[in-house]
Amino acid sequence: PITGANDIRKAFLDYFKGQGHQVVQSAPLVPHNDPTLMFVNAGMVPFKNVFTGAETRDYNRAASSQKCVRAGGKHNDLDNVGYTARHHTFFEMLGNFSFGDYFKEEAISHAWNLITREYGLNKDKLTVTVYHEDDEAFDLWKKIAMLPEERIIRIATSDNFWSMGDTGPCGPCSEIFYDHGDHIWGGPPGTPEEDGDRFVEIWNLVFMQYEQLASGERINLPKPSIDTGMGLERISAVMQGTHDNYEIDTFKAIIAASVNATGAGENDKTRASHRVIADHLRACSFLIADGVLPSNEGRGYVLRRIMRRAMRHAHMLGAKDLVMHQLAPTLIREMGQAFPELGRAERLIEETLKLEEGRFRQMLDKGLKLLDDELTKIGDGAELPGDVAFKLYDTYGFPLDLTQDALRSQDRTVDVDGFNAAMEEQRAKARAAWSGSGDAATEKVWFDINDEFGATEFVGYSTEQAEGKV
Ligand code: ATP
Ligand code: MG
Ligand code: MG
Ligand code: MG
Repeated sequence: PITGANDIRKAFLDYFKGQGHQVVQSAPLVPHNDPTLMFVNAGMVPFKNVFTGAETRDYNRAASSQKCVRAGGKHNDLDNVGYTARHHTFFEMLGNFSFGDYFKEEAISHAWNLITREYGLNKDKLTVTVYHEDDEAFDLWKKIAMLPEERIIRIATSDNFWSMGDTGPCGPCSEIFYDHGDHIWGGPPGTPEEDGDRFVEIWNLVFMQYEQLASGERINLPKPSIDTGMGLERISAVMQGTHDNYEIDTFKAIIAASVNATGAGENDKTRASHRVIADHLRACSFLIADGVLPSNEGRGYVLRRIMRRAMRHAHMLGAKDLVMHQLAPTLIREMGQAFPELGRAERLIEETLKLEEGRFRQMLDKGLKLLDDELTKIGDGAELPGDVAFKLYDTYGFPLDLTQDALRSQDRTVDVDGFNAAMEEQRAKARAAWSGSGDAATEKVWFDINDEFGATEFVGYSTEQAEGKV
């Protein structure tokens, strides 16, 4: 039987190859075809232009296992990591795509065949959703999967209607859920308990059948297309008999390395930290291998935020030595065959992690001490004042989300408006103090650039985030 994550990936790609699909290598995490997107966050991203017709390929069906990062913007799973059993910042999305070739019926048949025959999942544990108006998909699920009607759930929200952007291809989708059993908290899709880990969405099928025009009109696409995405880690969990992504082979190995490197055994108190470390190690290593380096803006700042979050958790586990770089060889052993770029970048990954952790370590100690003192001062449960969060950011290199993560276990929040105000005040001061070249025109350009791209860390990031583009 197929159980290892590497075998599950291979079985997926082999299945679709057997069905006439071109197997396409994962694109790098930094999108080359979309300057508005920070990282590739779905399998369809590298094919966007093929779906719109702007680009043609010599195949009209494809399959891939695409590296994805969801750590900002519209899809931000950073805060879920360590707290749900099913979210990562970095994960692999298995997908099959039809560019104007097959449509709903074949897409549903393939998905059903693969999971129930090749992967051998128990049909009784599967529930699907369709968009409430999509009678066609409803009937196809009945016919192909022979699911009882109560396990084909109609959903009226945007969860089941996908669009590429304000204009362009869009259409209803259908999601496949696995029921891990009533020992896990959660309910079926469409119920108030759906956010639990019991019913886990494993596969999303998108039926691109319309085009949204700028005029507001929605027309039928002459050649509808298919885009699907299945999380490799989630299907691996199912195949390995667990509801928990962090208990699959790949993660077990990295968590064992984290236990070893930090000297902290796994228990209820340390579990979330080990998970954060393992997850973030993957995100950081894959980003570095794809050419992203820690910096104070843009992509590099997202990387830095992820790294520093992990480093705080290593610190919480009481690690004496630098931790992150020690884990890289385990990751490369687990995933290096499927992603040779990891092995090629091994030195760079280790050096980058080591340098960043070494630098941050000293500031981290001091910053945490300041945070502790402040919390004592303001008393139980109170919100952390924005100027303190800003001082942690500005003097100790604490990204805002790191401070928020640190306060989460105490159920405290940060005054984010106050933080932003402190940031703005500092920028205004810098502006007033700027004597510059005395050439007003040059100065104006400088400040325009500064405003647009952000000289300081948080503002640059939040501007893009506000636009939902990161
Ligand atoms: P969820 O509702 O569970 O957050 P989603 O609807 O946001 O998932 P999609 O955008 O439909 O996810 O992505 C397709 C598939 O990728 C999902 O069905 C799931 O298997 C997987 N996936 C999505 N986000 C993550 C994540 N953060 N970590 C691991 N797998 C993920
Ligand atoms: Mg999601
Ligand atoms: Mg979903
Ligand atoms: Mg989905």
